[in-house]
Amino acid sequence: MTLRGANALVVGMKMSGRASAELLAREGAVVRATDLKPLDELPGAKELLERLHIPFARQTPEVFEGCDAIVLSPDVPADLAPLEEARRRGARVMGEVELAAPFLKGRTIGITGSNGKTTTTSLTGHILGAAGLAVQVGGNIGTPVTAMVDASRDGGWNVLELSSFQLETISEFRAHIGLALNVTQNHLDRHHTFENYAAAKGRLFDTQREGDYAVLNADDPVCAGYAGRTAGFVQWFSGSRHVSPGASPCGEKLMLDGKFLMEAGEIPLRGRHNVENVLAASIAAARAGVTHETIAAAVRTFQAVEHRLEFVRNAGGMDFYNDSKATSVDATLKALSAFAGGLWVILGGKDKGLDYSALRSLLGAKAHAALLIGAAAGKIADALEGAVPVVHAGTLEAAVAYAWEHGGPGDTVLLAPACASFDQFRSFEHRGEAFKEIAGRLERKPSATEPTDEGNRHGPTI
Ligand code: ADP
Repeated sequence: MTLRGANALVVGMKMSGRASAELLAREGAVVRATDLKPLDELPGAKELLERLHIPFARQTPEVFEGCDAIVLSPDVPADLAPLEEARRRGARVMGEVELAAPFLKGRTIGITGSNGKTTTTSLTGHILGAAGLAVQVGGNIGTPVTAMVDASRDGGWNVLELSSFQLETISEFRAHIGLALNVTQNHLDRHHTFENYAAAKGRLFDTQREGDYAVLNADDPVCAGYAGRTAGFVQWFSGSRHVSPGASPCGEKLMLDGKFLMEAGEIPLRGRHNVENVLAASIAAARAGVTHETIAAAVRTFQAVEHRLEFVRNAGGMDFYNDSKATSVDATLKALSAFAGGLWVILGGKDKGLDYSALRSLLGAKAHAALLIGAAAGKIADALEGAVPVVHAGTLEAAVAYAWEHGGPGDTVLLAPACASFDQFRSFEHRGEAFKEIAGRLERKPSATEPTDEGNRHGPTI
């Protein structure tokens, strides 16, 4: 559709909404903006809207009337009743990524999955950059896609992290190389069913064309199913067995396109799941023309993204790891798998409707105790009953204090909460910062309270 003269409404005035409003105004649309919050509570929006002479109204059903195009921010559910009504009237309802699509120059690598998107997107950008290619990284990871348009170049690469919310409304947006890392239970509060969630992510492959590449996790049944939805070439990766064409381990050697890439042990990130991320990113980079040698060298110099199984410090012989971004059960399982044992695992926060009993066996095998915080503590305690000692710590501070008091050298305190953060923190970043700050304050272990026996280590609830 042509935007010039179109009546456009931007819903949600955070970063991507603001970038959408700018693009629409520049393309000559007649733009209005709305949000559930009043303008005074939306930092950055007021000045922008004033500068562009864009009127703002608080979100009501009436706001959606009379629009030709409605652009949704990722946190706006695409099935709101007034949106259904607008669609019936012929309005085009789209996300910010779809809005950007016709204006984005160069080629695009789109990366989706329930877990590992940010890590794999950053890594892919890092490899392409190391190869000297013109690359910009954004999407769900930081810079909205609409704000990447100006810097995009013919011959360059856009590496985009894409969430299910951004993908569910695409029709023109196309990834020349699309990656699906894994699809596990997540965001059921928003997509209602697992099938809807999986279908939203699968849109990435529906819009691909002949000659494009779909990079898929062969071990994930939902991802493997996306092979039937792409018109492009399918490339497989597996963290556990030989697959072709694509990338997989052969013992501890990683193979790409049938040739040695690097030793798994050279990857500077913890956990088997990061081998999968490296394999997926390596295929994407190879299809963008990067050599095996350059890929391997770039992987060796990549550093863990903050809050993703990030090593914080060693104190009193105990390691502290911040995996605050483990906001789903699956991500927490991966974090647990990355350690041999001796864990004090901090779990809890805002419940997302997930099944915590999946954590029972790994926690039972590897953890001294689960230290529960936040609103979901009761539900998690019920799900873990009998599998692992449970401590109702309540707060992050108390959880760390408990582990510090009862743990010993060789143990690891792992924040991998399997929940959202919003009950006690502004964001997962805020929670991770708090953990690092608390861990950073620990000094000498109080020897008087060193654990003296197993009973003490698994001590009573506090
Ligand atoms: P996303 O952007 O999809 O949330 P991140 O890279 O931010 O992904 O990682 C989110 C969480 O998932 C972190 O706890 C991280 O350790 C874990 N994780 C990373 N890669 C994977 C993977 N391939 N499979 C499962 N969990 C992963």
